[in-house]
Amino acid sequence: LVRLDHARKSFGDNEVLKDISLSVHPGEVVAIIGPSGGGKSTLLRCCTLLERLDGGTLAFDDLVVASDEGGRAKYGSSSVLKEAKSRFGLVFQNFNLFPHYTVMKNITDAPLHVQKRGKEEVFTEARALLAKMGLEGKENMVPCELSGGQQQRVAIARALALNPDVLFFDEPTSALDPELTKEVLKVIRELAAERMTMVIVTHEMNFARDVADHIIFMDGGVIVEEGPAFEVINHPQHNRTRAFLNNYE
Ligand code: ATP
Ligand code: MG
Repeated sequence: LVRLDHARKSFGDNEVLKDISLSVHPGEVVAIIGPSGGGKSTLLRCCTLLERLDGGTLAFDDLVVASDEGGRAKYGSSSVLKEAKSRFGLVFQNFNLFPHYTVMKNITDAPLHVQKRGKEEVFTEARALLAKMGLEGKENMVPCELSGGQQQRVAIARALALNPDVLFFDEPTSALDPELTKEVLKVIRELAAERMTMVIVTHEMNFARDVADHIIFMDGGVIVEEGPAFEVINHPQHNRTRAFLNNYE
């Protein structure tokens, strides 16, 4: 569903991604872990077209976003990029809701005005998503009237309202205290149980072990170790992975 091959990305002479390959299959949950500055966010931003690769290829199923041309990444036309953007959703650390929009308008705005879907269908679906996120009755509130955990669940509902094939999360709970983290992780767990395809950058190791199918440990712009979640967390093979995980015990 998502395929990234030999991805390279530098900022100036800082090589942040060095030959990263990853593939995400339908229904799979992939967690990306690793120390600060290791390139996790950059990887996610390249997958979600917020940054452009210098080299390597990126495709969503048969839709080729970037192909290799003499070692450089060559991006497709604007219509290809637009189509690609319709296939994924993105949830950030800081919720990024529209502050002046109500919860309902945050969720329904893009389905109505970008996807141009029918009002009735969009509102019915938005109400179902709010119920699923445990946010009944919050339709007409604005983000600042909600807790951080509630805001993040609105952000997840907003991403889901566009019916993406895959959801990308960049540290969805790192701005939240433990109680609110729990509520957000619970809805992500529920999505995983429904086989929503997800790629999640997280510092929550227990969550990663329980929910992810596959874990990627990144450090210094490379994938140091990857494999089944339980194996990587409970039986790391590399010293760097072990040293990193020791910080969480
Ligand atoms: P964290 O766990 O702290 O979020 P990370 O693994 O997400 O870290 P990145 O944010 O991907 O790491 O950053 C990797 C490196 O790329 C860092 O050295 C950072 O300074 C650099 N970097 C990221 N974005 C930019 C940018 N827009 N311009 C210049 N350098 C950048
Ligand atoms: Mg980051």
